[in-house]
Amino acid sequence: MPKLTLIPFGCQANEADSEKIAGVLAGEGYELTERAEEADLILLNTCSIREKAEQKVYSLLGTFQHLKARNPRLKIGLCGWRAPRGERRPHPAEPLPLYIQSPRPRRESRLKAWVSIMEGCNYLCTFCVVPYTRGPERSRPPHDILAEVRDLVEHGYREITLLGQTVNAYGKNLRPRIRFSDLLRAIDAAAGGTIRVRFTSSHPRDFTPDLVEAIATVPGVCEHVHLPVQAGSNRVLRRMRRLYTREEYMDTIQALTSPGPDIAPSPDVIIGFPGETEDDFRDTLRLLHEVQYDSLFAFKYSPRPLTPAATYSDQVAEALKTERITALLALQDQIALDRNRCRLGTIQEVLIEEGPNPKMGSAATGRTRRNQLVHFSEGSPSPGEIVSSVITEAYSHYLKGKIA
Ligand code: SAH
Repeated sequence: MPKLTLIPFGCQANEADSEKIAGVLAGEGYELTERAEEADLILLNTCSIREKAEQKVYSLLGTFQHLKARNPRLKIGLCGWRAPRGERRPHPAEPLPLYIQSPRPRRESRLKAWVSIMEGCNYLCTFCVVPYTRGPERSRPPHDILAEVRDLVEHGYREITLLGQTVNAYGKNLRPRIRFSDLLRAIDAAAGGTIRVRFTSSHPRDFTPDLVEAIATVPGVCEHVHLPVQAGSNRVLRRMRRLYTREEYMDTIQALTSPGPDIAPSPDVIIGFPGETEDDFRDTLRLLHEVQYDSLFAFKYSPRPLTPAATYSDQVAEALKTERITALLALQDQIALDRNRCRLGTIQEVLIEEGPNPKMGSAATGRTRRNQLVHFSEGSPSPGEIVSSVITEAYSHYLKGKIA
């Protein structure tokens, strides 16, 4: 059997695409191997959202040169979403890519599955290359998604993450139109309450009250929302063309975190967007203080081809970006630690994802519904089990617990 090494770069969307590619190639007889030196075919599934991922691809390609010298029949392929170097505007009539409905992804995990529900993005944020790589918003028909979910339930999956570049814009362009909140209800019903449901990434503009309500009330849907804010300063948000203000974003946060729904938001933040002043940056820090996130992803701004912001003349120096991101992450660590300490002694529902991990000195590891990592030092729950856990120790990036 020919052997395939498939290396994904970047976000969950790329991991999910890689599983689909591996599924298609499994149908052609390819067997996966992690050892590139054994492979007949090496595929690098690239991502161009940030410059760093792109650079990694090129340096890895270099290291594969000696394999090619040893085995002239070896094929090395680049696929995925590389930023085009020429003009390419998003075109609304583009069809849904076929791979999205690919018959059987070759999934890495037997517990957690990615389910792509839409592709592309209709926003044109000035920093972002996605509209030029993945094209405009296209939603997958609900019956297709529900069939995939039923299949996952039958195969014993315990958690699915619905994927889309603007996942909560789902259904806008379907006829008849369907709301994302209705899709969540339909998925939970199809799964018969046996599966946890998460989704990523949401755009604040599409975060409607019916969605907040669905997260709070649909049993399978976890009380956790990945909700990129990108910046805390209205001036920067305007230049990013995010189409919301800090105040509007805060209204959504208020709706999510108020005692009724009590949903944990976690954002993406971009540091050092062109023209970001010390005051703008402090606005972002203030936002972190105000919201008190459990966790966040922070990225240093990197100019991407075709995007307007890449041409702005007031680019921020790399050293300043580094200084700011370091300060922001230090603040977030402190906030997370304080929040986690408040959870000492509480009971949390944990889905066990991994068995013993000697490095962490843990007997098992899992995640709460609010997406927090919990390590167990005793007991032997197995992956796939859902347990009640008492939180016994708190750190910035994880909790420790005992089976309650
Ligand atoms: N569609 C989502 C995010 C998808 S991309 C949204 O816009 O809300 C994932 C994250 O990568 C973004 O949230 C952003 O924080 C980061 N990102 C995108 N383009 C970037 C760039 N040019 N430089 C640095 N980070 C970037």
